[in-house]
This record gives sequence, C-alpha cells and structure tokens, in this order.
Amino acid sequence: MTSALEKILAAQPSITDWQDDLYIHFHRNPELSFVEHQTHDRIAEELDRLDGVEVVRHIGETGLVGIVRNGDGPTVLMRADIDALPVRELTGLEYASTVVGVSSDGETSPVMHACGHDIHISSLLGATRLLTEHTDAWSGTFLALFQPAEERATGAEKMVDDGLVDRIPKPDVAFSQHVMPQAAGDIHANIGPAMSAADSMKITLFGRGGHGSMPQTTVDPAVLASLVVLRLQTIVARELAPHDFGVVTVGKMVVGSKVNIISDRAELHVNVRSFNEQTRAHILEAIERMVNAECEASGSPQPPTFEYYDQFPLTDNDEDVTTRVRSAFADAFGDRFIEATPSSGSEDFGAIPNAFGVPYCYWMVGGSDREAFADAKKRGVIAKEIPGNHSPFFAPVMHPTLDAATKAILVVATEWMPPAG
Ligand code: ZN
Ligand code: ZN
Repeated sequence: MTSALEKILAAQPSITDWQDDLYIHFHRNPELSFVEHQTHDRIAEELDRLDGVEVVRHIGETGLVGIVRNGDGPTVLMRADIDALPVRELTGLEYASTVVGVSSDGETSPVMHACGHDIHISSLLGATRLLTEHTDAWSGTFLALFQPAEERATGAEKMVDDGLVDRIPKPDVAFSQHVMPQAAGDIHANIGPAMSAADSMKITLFGRGGHGSMPQTTVDPAVLASLVVLRLQTIVARELAPHDFGVVTVGKMVVGSKVNIISDRAELHVNVRSFNEQTRAHILEAIERMVNAECEASGSPQPPTFEYYDQFPLTDNDEDVTTRVRSAFADAFGDRFIEATPSSGSEDFGAIPNAFGVPYCYWMVGGSDREAFADAKKRGVIAKEIPGNHSPFFAPVMHPTLDAATKAILVVATEWMPPAG
C-alpha cells in the first residue's frame, strides 16, 4: 500500500458515526426509480457541506454529480445508483423502512432499499468526504456520480440523454460497485463480463375469441401461449452450446378473463440474459422465429407483436483497468479480495462509461454477516438461507460492509490519482 492510501484509510474511523447515520437515513427513506427527490436533495446537501465540491444537480431528473478538482492528474468517475424497490421490508431491523411510496407511473406500494443502493450512496459520500479532507493524498479530479433509476434500466441512459457528457469533465476511467450476498467486507472482481446483458419484451399473441363450449369457432390463445412457453425452453437447451451462457424466462403470462370465455389474445413477458452480443442476437432471433411459427401453426388471425423494454447493456470489465484494480485490491484487502464469477444479474452502469468512450471496472462487495455466510456455505445452503438482492429480507450488515465499500473507492481513487511529486 502507498503511504497516501495508508494515510487516508487511517482516517476512515473518523467518519464512521456520520456515515452510519447517513446509511440509516437513506435506508429509512427509500424512494422509487425517478422519484428519488429527497434522496437527490440530501446527497446534494451533504456534498455542499464538503470543502471544494462543485455539485451539478438534476442531470436526468434526479441524478447528480459532485466534482472535486484537486490539481493535475487523471479524472476518475465513481458511480452509485440511488433508487429503491417496491418491496415491503421484512428484515425486522430497528431502522427498517415503513415507507409507502408512489412510483413515477402513479402506483402506490411499500418501498425498500432491497438492492442495497443505500450502501452505495453512503460509501460514495464517505469516500468523497475523505478525499476532500485529505487532498494531500491524491491529485486529479474525482467525479462522484449518483444515478437514478438503475432498477428500471433507464437511469444511466437518462443522465446521458440529459447532456451528462457536456456537463461534467470527461473521466479517464469509470468505476462502480454493488453490494451482494457474499461475506461482508469481501471484494470480488473479474475481467470481462461482470453482469449479463438483459432484454425484456412484451409479446402479444392473437387468437379468435368465443364461447368456451365451442372451441371449434375459435383460435385459443391460451393453448397457443402454452405451446410458445414450452417451445422457448428449447433455445437455451438445444440451440446454445452447453458452455454458452443464456437465460430465457417467461416471467409473466396474461390470458383470459372468465372460465367459459376463450380470449382473443395472450400476453407474454419474456426476460433474456446473455454474456455476449452474438448469443444475445441469437436468442432474440430465435424467440421471434419460434413465436411467429407457433402463431402460424395455430392459425392465428394476425401476426404477433414484440415490444422491447428494460434493456440493460452488458457490463464488461476492461482487461487493463481490471488487472490494475485487482492488484490494488489484493494489496489493500489481502485474502478478502476474491476472484469473481460473472453474475447473471444486470446493470445499466455501462451506459455511462460507454457515453464517454472510456474503460471501466465494476466490482462486488459482500454484505452478509460473515459467520452466517460461512456457516451456510459449509452446509451448501447459501441460496436458501442467505437473503439476496430484491428479497424483503435483504439486510446488509453495516460493518464491515460500509467500511469495505468506502475503502474500495479510496483504493482505486489513490491508485489512479497518486499525489503529485
Ligand atoms: Zn436491483
Ligand atoms: Zn442494484
């Protein structure tokens, strides 16, 4: 470890109480995608209190960036996503959310930071504070970017569409992190695909409606939809090579209204995951091919329609950047740095570095109680016993999760922006 890093890490305990309070505040006050107004304002307020931070507010509605200029050197961007989920919290924590919120679509639901984005906000604010308080430990420009609506796969794109590239300095490199159900304080990173590309689509299948007692007068979309669901299972099983990663999930199927009515249409919502563009294109082509053919086979009166939504880019960690990140992490975290395996989850972070045309690295931070995790691992029941992201029971332990997530940012910041001289 460099002496600059050692010095700034030694100051970490000085922010613990403040950072814990911030985390509890954000955890208690979660807001849904694109309505993170109070979250936006509180982050801006905290950044304003720090020395020498220029705050660019409202980029993509509720996104914002804190710019810390500290002499010559590279520009490093660190991104944290800030939105919560429509989940009723069941953690039983003393600081559990009891918030009921209204989504940007006007739907009311309980709200919870069930994906741990409150960890991301608090650790980025913590690292930014330490960087502003120890300007002798680094030299360059640090960009603390807070992104809305990651859960909708549109927040990063929205910031880009709202002129992000012209409103902040161009970074040389970009980073982001995510808390996950691994031993708290462990840091995981890998070269290449870190998170899958994701595509969702709504498929409408058309039948001919009629009386349930007279199927001969109809084209039954319930039967058609069932055949489509089964047929789609053959894409991954029979069309992809066994070592090639792909997921095709029909997550929602809507058909019919009453027992003696054959409906005139069915709706399928299909979710696809992949680790490279070729596989992605193959799966999407296969879905359209199979759905079209099944509709024709059933005598469907009208071709099906495909509406794509929630499309996440592949999160693909740059080789050179990630090699450097990994050696810095191995140095700073010792055996708490672990080689990651690619996750089938997805992220829209890539849209930000892609807009600037700069390389990036995205790493994971464990958030689960270390003892409980080790015990579940020993018994081979992690998936069953350790609540994961989006679960109403997902409850990252504050320590050492916040400390490790903050430290990880400081490690890469000082690695890329060493002090002058
Ligand atoms: Zn999530
Ligand atoms: Zn998330």
